[in-house]
Amino acid sequence: MALVDLATTMLIADPEDVATVLEPTADDGALAAAAGGNAGPIAISFPSFTDGRGFSLARLLRERYGFKGEIRAVGHLIPDQGQFLLRSGFDTVEIADPDTADVWKFSLERIGRNYQPAVRNTLPLRWNASHKASIALNEALGATDDLVGRIKEVSKRIEGRIAFSTSLGLEDQAILHAIANSGVLKSGAEIDVFTLDTGRLFPEVLETVELSELRFRTRIRLVVPDAAEVEELVTRDGVFGFRQSVDNRKSCCEVRKVRPLNRALQGAQGWITGLRREHSDARAEVPLAEWDQDRGLIKVNPVADWSTDRLMDYIAAHNVPVNPLHARGFVSIGCAPCTRAVEPGESPRAGRWWWENEEKKECGLHINGNEKEKEKAA
Ligand code: SF4
Repeated sequence: MALVDLATTMLIADPEDVATVLEPTADDGALAAAAGGNAGPIAISFPSFTDGRGFSLARLLRERYGFKGEIRAVGHLIPDQGQFLLRSGFDTVEIADPDTADVWKFSLERIGRNYQPAVRNTLPLRWNASHKASIALNEALGATDDLVGRIKEVSKRIEGRIAFSTSLGLEDQAILHAIANSGVLKSGAEIDVFTLDTGRLFPEVLETVELSELRFRTRIRLVVPDAAEVEELVTRDGVFGFRQSVDNRKSCCEVRKVRPLNRALQGAQGWITGLRREHSDARAEVPLAEWDQDRGLIKVNPVADWSTDRLMDYIAAHNVPVNPLHARGFVSIGCAPCTRAVEPGESPRAGRWWWENEEKKECGLHINGNEKEKEKAA
C-alpha cells in the first residue's frame, strides 16, 4: 500500500500512520469525534468511485470541524478524481499499486486553472494572481496614510465580498468610521461587517455595537459559535476550563472564535482587520495587505502601520464612538473572563490571558500558515 500526496504529487511508500477510518455514512457525531483532539490522519472510505459522499465529509471536516490534520482517501477511486479530492480538502489518496502513481501525477497536473471556490485554492495560477494582487494592494495602501483613502483603494481592488471582522476595539471603530464615510457602501461595495459573539463578551461591547449601528447606519452581524460545540466544550472542560491550561484556552478560542470566523469568511475575497504592529512583538511585521493562502483571500490591515497617537488623533478628530471600558483602563478587549485593565506603560496585549506566557497569547484568528509551522516545530 502507498499514498500519493495530492498537493505535491509525490509518492509516499509504506506510510506508517494508522488512520481513523470514516465510512461514507458517518454522521455529525462521528465527524466531531474523529476531528476532536485527533491530530493523526483520518481516512474516508469510498466504496465505489461513483459514490461522492466522501467529498462532502472531507469538506465538513475542514470547514465545520476545523480539522487541520491529514485527510486520506481510501477505497475505489480513479486518477481523474485527484483534483476533486484536493479541492475538497483531502491531502493524500491510498493506491494499491505504486506503479500507478505517475497516472495520478499526470491527472493532478493536467488542469491548470479553476474558477470555482474550494476548501483549498492550491492551484498555482489562482495563487499567483491573488498573491500578486495582494502585493500590489500592499504597495498602494503604503502610498497614503489616509484611512478613508485606503478603504477606497481596498474596495476598488478587491472584487466580491469583503469581510470586516470587528471587535469594536479602537482600531476597528476607526475603520468602521472610514468605511461609513468613504462612500464605498453607497457605491455598492459588498462589505460584510460582523463581530464574533463568543457568548462571553462584556455587555459594554454589545452596547457599542448598538451605538455604532445608529451612528454609522449599518448593521453589524453577530456571528455566534455552534451551540452543540459549545455544549460539548463546557461539558468536557467546565465553565472556566480555559483557565486550567493553554490547550484548554486554545480549545475554547477555537470553538467560540476561530471556527465561527472561518465560517463567516467562507466565500469572501477580502478580510479587513484592525491589527497594528505596535500591539505586540508577534504583530511587529504585519503588512498592510497580504495573501492568506489558508483562507484563499486577501487579508487587509489598513491601520497596521499606525501609531497609538495617530489612532487616538483620528478617533478624537472624528468623534468616533468607543467602548466605555477603554476609559476604565481596558485597551485590547476580548471576552470578559479573559480581559483585564492594564497599567499605564504596559503592553496593549498585557490585559489578555494575563496568566499565560507572552509568546502564546494569540487566539488563533491571525495565525497564518508560516506561524503554524513554527508552532508545530516548537
Ligand atoms: S477569549 Fe477566553 S472565553 Fe473567549 S473564546 Fe478565548 S478562552 Fe474562551
